[in-house]
Amino acid sequence: MKAQPAASHFIDGAYVEDTAGAVIEVIYPATGAVIARLHEATPALIERAVAAATRAQTAWAATRPVERARILRRAADMIRDRGEDLARLETLDTGKPIQETRVADWPSGADALEYFAGLAPTVTGETIPLGGDFVYTIREPLGVCVGIGAWNYPSQIACWKSAPALALGNAMVFKPSEVTPLGALKLAEIYIEAGLPAGLFNVVQGRGAVGAGLITDPRVAKVSLTGSVPTGRKVYAAAAEGMRHVTMELGGKSPLILFDDANLDDAVGAAMMANFYSAGQVCSNGTRVFVQRGLKEAFLSRLKARAQAMVLGDPLDDATHMGPLVSEAQLAKVMGYIDTAKAEGARLITGGARAAANTGYFVQPTVFADVTDDMTIAREEVFGPVMAVLDFDTEAEAIARANATEFGLAAGVFTADITRAHRVIGQLQAGTCWINAYNLTPVEAPFGGMKASGVGRENGHAAVQHYTQVKSVYVGMGPVDAPY
Ligand code: NAD
Repeated sequence: MKAQPAASHFIDGAYVEDTAGAVIEVIYPATGAVIARLHEATPALIERAVAAATRAQTAWAATRPVERARILRRAADMIRDRGEDLARLETLDTGKPIQETRVADWPSGADALEYFAGLAPTVTGETIPLGGDFVYTIREPLGVCVGIGAWNYPSQIACWKSAPALALGNAMVFKPSEVTPLGALKLAEIYIEAGLPAGLFNVVQGRGAVGAGLITDPRVAKVSLTGSVPTGRKVYAAAAEGMRHVTMELGGKSPLILFDDANLDDAVGAAMMANFYSAGQVCSNGTRVFVQRGLKEAFLSRLKARAQAMVLGDPLDDATHMGPLVSEAQLAKVMGYIDTAKAEGARLITGGARAAANTGYFVQPTVFADVTDDMTIAREEVFGPVMAVLDFDTEAEAIARANATEFGLAAGVFTADITRAHRVIGQLQAGTCWINAYNLTPVEAPFGGMKASGVGRENGHAAVQHYTQVKSVYVGMGPVDAPY
């Protein structure tokens, strides 16, 4: 199986190669086979990408928003028309099952292109009357934005960042994760085919150092990172040095609180989706499942039966529910967390081992019960199919324990009591919350974290603030009153 792109990078409207850059091997996680060989961007290529973006952005900012929108909408249609091929490529890049990549990854990216195409022409300033004199404001693009992606939703992330950036008149240089470099190149191709002027969306490959090189370029106005908290701290600090705008979409350890009166099947289904979708490699996952004591035994027995019925296997098979983890390194990390959970006294309900039938990086869907707040799996982001179930008695206790973390990305509550649902959500420190649902992230809704989980928001009207800046223009209508 091969998925070799025409070249490693896409700069100024065309594929570009420079074999002087260190090699990146792209591995299909279901088999461990190398499916493509790419090169990291050299300083010369980074320079070309930023120069192309800088040049193209000026004319783009002066283009009517409806014209920009038309191109993005065309690109969205092309993504949908090529859905099956793109889903297959995403599965090869990430190992996620085709039944997910068909409905979640690129489709959600296409939604973002369509949404920001519709939104951009409606973005206007305001007029502030001062009785004669007045002020008007203009929302201007920031300029050249850098996007840096994680490996768990590579194509969705490329779309979620580039769609608002481009729709609002910016250019972007995007660096995908070195683990999943393929999807962003397809997006660059599609944008060009849809009529986007060359230089507005460039893809450069590389590890962290390439990302670091982009952020400190004086022509760059903003960086939007999706990644872990430790990387976020470094990128935020590097951006601060040049006073650049930032959006930080970072990790989490989100609480999912299930009250006794919750619908049992819905609660079990949500907890599974919140821990096993994409083999648990979702930033907003509800990985601390707080179950009220009255629901606990029924919840665990239903959960165990359903988890054991999950189908692991060839991600390209329509019937497969869960694929492998993205890499050997991630496999080692997740197995380490499973071993630690056992050693620290968590009770294994199901899973807890590699899935034997495969050569790839498969881990069984795993559930630990009797997890306490001080255990490592209750505190650190595992990023694998490992659910931690914690018991609680009272509402106040659940809220306090849910908030006792440095993270604040997401949170969910399941209950039949509507006033309780809103009361609890009102007290949770999390940027993205659900009531009787989990992990649904439509482009219409702002998405992002509080506390260490990030700053800024992607999607929704909120994203406009993060890809534009306000210019305030005072207009004097009378004589200048100078006292000297
Ligand atoms: P990571 O932090 O290791 O890497 C993220 C990206 O940053 C990669 O492209 C990497 O090459 C780059 N990078 C690394 N060091 C850098 C540096 N010093 N300067 C610039 N760029 C640098 O994260 P990952 O392992 O790719 O992804 C998993 C993490 O991402 C998890 O913590 C997950 O929660 C988080 N995530 C968050 C969201 C969200 O929207 N909040 C979404 C998906 C994933």
